[in-house]
Amino acid sequence: MDEEAAQVVKRIFTLCMEGRGPSQIATLLTEERILIPAAYHQKEGRNTPSQAGEKPYKWHQTTVAKILERKEYTGCTVNFKTYTNSIWDKKKRESPAENQTVFYGTHPAIIKVDVFDKVQELRRQRHRHAKTGKTSLFSGLVYCADCNQRLYYCTTRYFEKRQDFFVCSTHRADKEKCSGHYIRAVVLEKMVWLHMAEVIFCVTHYETHFRAVMERELRLASEDAIKVCRKRLAQAEKRLAELDRLFIRLYEDNVSSKITDERFTMMSSTYEDEQKQLKVDVQELQQEIEVQERQIENLEQFIQRISKYTDLQELPPYALRELVKAIYVEAPDKSSGKRRQGIHICYDLIGFIPLDTLTKEETA
Ligand SMILES: [Zn+2]
Repeated sequence: MDEEAAQVVKRIFTLCMEGRGPSQIATLLTEERILIPAAYHQKEGRNTPSQAGEKPYKWHQTTVAKILERKEYTGCTVNFKTYTNSIWDKKKRESPAENQTVFYGTHPAIIKVDVFDKVQELRRQRHRHAKTGKTSLFSGLVYCADCNQRLYYCTTRYFEKRQDFFVCSTHRADKEKCSGHYIRAVVLEKMVWLHMAEVIFCVTHYETHFRAVMERELRLASEDAIKVCRKRLAQAEKRLAELDRLFIRLYEDNVSSKITDERFTMMSSTYEDEQKQLKVDVQELQQEIEVQERQIENLEQFIQRISKYTDLQELPPYALRELVKAIYVEAPDKSSGKRRQGIHICYDLIGFIPLDTLTKEETA
């Protein structure tokens, strides 16, 4: 793929990350008079299965959706994507994902894997508001802190933006089952941006401190602890190989009548018990090492992502999608006479960030 086409693909992914759906993206591209793929190929003198026709700029939302689903943009090759039922039925059908084979890193990537995955997640979360056509940047990201179900975005054509709100979907279906957890969209937006701004400030100004607190929070083992795990793993694997050899010798000794059947049965069952235990140990150790390594990597990746947003006065929608995985809204607390409502932000890659601890220790 050439640079010009790559730019269009990148643009489409960015627009999606900013919270736009395929039909909104299609409208935008049409307005900007960007050539649709078929027209572009024709212009470049390539063969295309479909003709561009008379409307070379008329983007359709399915074209956009197809582009957003193409894993190949991350630099991999997907084989067996389509199949035909029989030689009589020449119609190509799409194979389910589990029957497809993916080869990674076969050509240069246009879209980063984490952006691609995020977009797939976003597209699953999105729900349409056909009636009003309005969507919130936060749609699909907001959950009820009590029942863990989605909060629905509510708006009408007549509402001003500041009247739009979110409400617990369980509550909407059955008022007995959960309370409303009503929160205005503008309030939520402000709270989330404030939290994110503080996190960004903390990471960019006190990176070492942030890393230390998060390592504690994520219960990250030190490198020494991981080394110990690795050593124990190597020992266990060595012993397993040894047991295999001992087992064969035992069997041979039994066949050549060096040891009795009774003794053979007794010894082999001892070996088997040890083997079973070792296999469990090995699996646990491998998992432990994997989890630790992944978390360390995730934390570093998160810090890297944040570093992009240092000099911003205002946070772009892209940052929200890139950094935040979910937002949990508590029921309002009116005990003080004032309406107070807490939210918890689950960040992508690292989960909850204890801002209180971070800022307290930083000023101490
Ligand atoms: Zn609820």
